[in-house]
Amino acid sequence: VKSNGRGAACRYVPEIRERAEERRALEVDLGMALERGQLALAFQPVVEAADEHIVGFEALLRWTHPVLGKIPPDKFIPVAEDTGLIVPIGHWVIREACAWAAKWPRHIRIAVNLSPAQIDDPLLLEVVAQALADNGLEPARLELEITESLFLNEKVSTIERLAALKALGVRFALDDFGTGYSALGYLHKAAFSRIKIDRSFVSRALQPNGEASAIIQAIVSLAHSLDMATTAEGTETREEFELCRSLGCEQVQGYLFGRPMPPEEATALVAGVLVE
Ligand code: C2E
Ligand code: CA
Ligand code: CA
Ligand code: CA
Repeated sequence: VKSNGRGAACRYVPEIRERAEERRALEVDLGMALERGQLALAFQPVVEAADEHIVGFEALLRWTHPVLGKIPPDKFIPVAEDTGLIVPIGHWVIREACAWAAKWPRHIRIAVNLSPAQIDDPLLLEVVAQALADNGLEPARLELEITESLFLNEKVSTIERLAALKALGVRFALDDFGTGYSALGYLHKAAFSRIKIDRSFVSRALQPNGEASAIIQAIVSLAHSLDMATTAEGTETREEFELCRSLGCEQVQGYLFGRPMPPEEATALVAGVLVE
């Protein structure tokens, strides 16, 4: 006899409860992670395609849980977003990233990811301005990465907050481009300096049907016509890199040129590099 709908539902209940409990435990633990020193930044190099020199780093959050060990951002960032913990954690990320960047040569920029909930935070502007001032960091060296999902419900306050940040002199990059809604109308509103082409296109770029490379080419020409630069994300092989470069991507980021690394290692990598 096949199990009826009810039987199936009963079997799933404990599993759902387990998952909900796991999630609640994660929320509680994440709430204490910052003060307990369990959060850290990793810096991934961003490289100029033409000469393969490092031109910046992207700050990526890492959480080492005392029992569960390393928890990937794709698992805990959503929890941080849902609980609002992303706001205080984000303040820490901004301060920490700016403090490290201040130790680097002046042509090396730092990119920091911002979730939509962080843009709604009324303290964000002050935290960014203070972090720049405290560390004597030129605003143009800080690039804030935001995704298209921010523009889903076009709030006036969002555009106003971005404009206020922009007025500080920081830059904006549009992250994960091509994976979201792409209504494109918002592109000029936030005055992006850069489009980051999502890894999903880069990793399919060499496939014989040529679709992904056609998309990369289209994104590059869109970017250029709006006076923006592009970064190809998730470049893992030299073939991918060379294709992206030939399609006009100015900068690349990916395992080929370096994985996210501890701040000390990133700092050593660019130490003594002089501005040309
Ligand atoms: P993202 O902003 O798109 O960051 C790039 C992700 O791609 C990083 O994953 C990076 O480690 C990974 N990656 C880079 N190069 C390669 C490659 O060649 N191959 C492959 N397979 N992967 C590559 P990570 O560090 O796991 O971060 C995942 C996401 O979590 C980020 O995606 C970002 O959306 C979010 N995130 C990380 N740190 C922060 C943060 O401080 N604040 C916020 N709001 N979000 C963050
Ligand atoms: Ca990013
Ligand atoms: Ca991305
Ligand atoms: Ca992302």
